[in-house]
Amino acid sequence: MGNPTAFIQVQRRATPTRPPLERIHDWSETHPHLAEQELRDQGSRCMDCGIPYCHTGVLISGMASGCPINNLIPEWNDLVYRGQWREASVRLARTNNFPEFTGRVCPAPCEGSCTVGLDGDPVTIKSIEQEIADRAWDEGWITPRPPAVRTGRSVAVIGSGPAGLAAADQLNRAGHAVTVFERAGRIGGLLMYGIPNMKLDKGVVDRRVGLMEAEGVTFRTAVTVGADITADELLASFDAVVLATGATVARDLPVPGRELGGIHLAMSFLRGNTRRLLDGGADAEPPISADGRDVVVIGGGDTGTDCVGTAIRQGARSVRQLELLARPPLTRAADNPWPEWPKVYKLDYGQEEAQALWGEDPRRYSTTTRRFIGRNEHVTGIEIADVTMAPGADGKVALRDVPATNQVIPADLVLLALGFVGPEPVLPRAFDCELDARGNVRAGADRMTSVPGVFAAGDCVRGQSLVVWAIREGRMAAEGVDRYLSRPY
Ligand SMILES: Cc1cc2nc3c(=O)[nH]c(=O)nc-3n(C[C@H](O)[C@H](O)[C@H](O)COP(=O)(O)OP(=O)(O)OC[C@H]3O[C@@H](n4cnc5c(N)ncnc54)[C@H](O)[C@@H]3O)c2cc1C
Ligand code: SF4
Repeated sequence: MGNPTAFIQVQRRATPTRPPLERIHDWSETHPHLAEQELRDQGSRCMDCGIPYCHTGVLISGMASGCPINNLIPEWNDLVYRGQWREASVRLARTNNFPEFTGRVCPAPCEGSCTVGLDGDPVTIKSIEQEIADRAWDEGWITPRPPAVRTGRSVAVIGSGPAGLAAADQLNRAGHAVTVFERAGRIGGLLMYGIPNMKLDKGVVDRRVGLMEAEGVTFRTAVTVGADITADELLASFDAVVLATGATVARDLPVPGRELGGIHLAMSFLRGNTRRLLDGGADAEPPISADGRDVVVIGGGDTGTDCVGTAIRQGARSVRQLELLARPPLTRAADNPWPEWPKVYKLDYGQEEAQALWGEDPRRYSTTTRRFIGRNEHVTGIEIADVTMAPGADGKVALRDVPATNQVIPADLVLLALGFVGPEPVLPRAFDCELDARGNVRAGADRMTSVPGVFAAGDCVRGQSLVVWAIREGRMAAEGVDRYLSRPY
């Protein structure tokens, strides 16, 4: 700890964002960089407190507290404070395969458990991480480093999201021959086709994939395992297999009127938009367009926020967002103490843009959707009602409708962002892998499934989660595979 009193003297400075009314006219990332001295000052705020929950990654009350990949945060904060950026990037690479992704999109559970945040504002860990990663690329410190020795063993990784990529990266470094199979036309999973460009520029994903290719990983796109190549063929051709196929089955909303035109799953909207930006450019027509429409996004999470930001950029006439749960408090509730993940109200980028355009946060909390209303087979409105936590006739406290609160809001484009229920079961079944009670692939601590030599990682094991957890999962599976391939025969 270079400056023991900086956490008192230096105020937190979060990464600035470009003004909302400027950035809605393009698809570029929302965050410019902080100046170098500013970041060094921010790094100095780390107390090297001796109880660094920031890098523990434990689950408390079901939520991540601290960094799930155990980034060595106090160490690189100090190196940044001293201006030793290259050493910081080496430290960061020890635990994180893709800091240029997490530095941009991670919700930063590390900051929620930072000790400075106990009685003040936490260290800006995520911004520092992004800057270390970006600098390492810009300065040319990241170059292909293929393994010196190959083991002669081969691994097939199915799915190229962050879990598959992290597994592939680790296994390739260990000297195994890795082939990644991806059914989409581009590598990256939700990094490519889920998270919009304004949060993660697709060139950042392609740059990392290029590096992995130069280091010896083989990528095969537009190959659906289970259709274009069977599970048996893969098992016969590779020494081990990693399933990293994500949790892609979206939760639907089967209320009356769901069959009307103009009601879409969020991923269809987001994927279509990213595809047209990559293939046709910003002037091409998106397959599902919000241009001139009254858009209602159902679901108040991150995917919903991405729909809000994307609909605004496409030229929506209005955007509303419906959330079933109550609005969170502005500060931690008594039952949500440090170092738990703080469940507090936040204005994310999409809502900030809607507020700048129309004067208010577009989210309406404690709201349920009763039915969709339409004309000529197309949605025109939604009947909604208020809900509240209340005891029912059985005495159980649950979300219940508030009588006489029904109203109809206009909508000619509805986007369902209600989360994901789990992985598609077809492929795990083709490999004969057991599923757990929630329909996720069952895997042990080494991420081996019920089938020897078949491993699984990421959202297909955990259910819908975060990029940082997917990286952790991929690293765990790689360790399991490496141990499996190194076992005595
Ligand atoms: C819209 C959206 C925004 C998000 N924003 C954030 C965010 O800001 N921050 C964050 O931390 N997390 C975010 N997440 C969550 C995060 O993206 C996921 O948790 C993470 O990508 C999961 O990684 P994964 O590798 O397990 O799966 P995925 O990224 O889903 O990748 C799975 C891949 O497997 C491929 N696949 C599936 N079946 C087959 C098959 N049979 N053959 C070949 N390939 C196959 C799929 O095409 C896909 O490319 C977001 C999610 C969504 C949907
Ligand atoms: S990966 Fe996420 S949790 Fe870990 S240090 Fe970076 S921002 Fe924090």
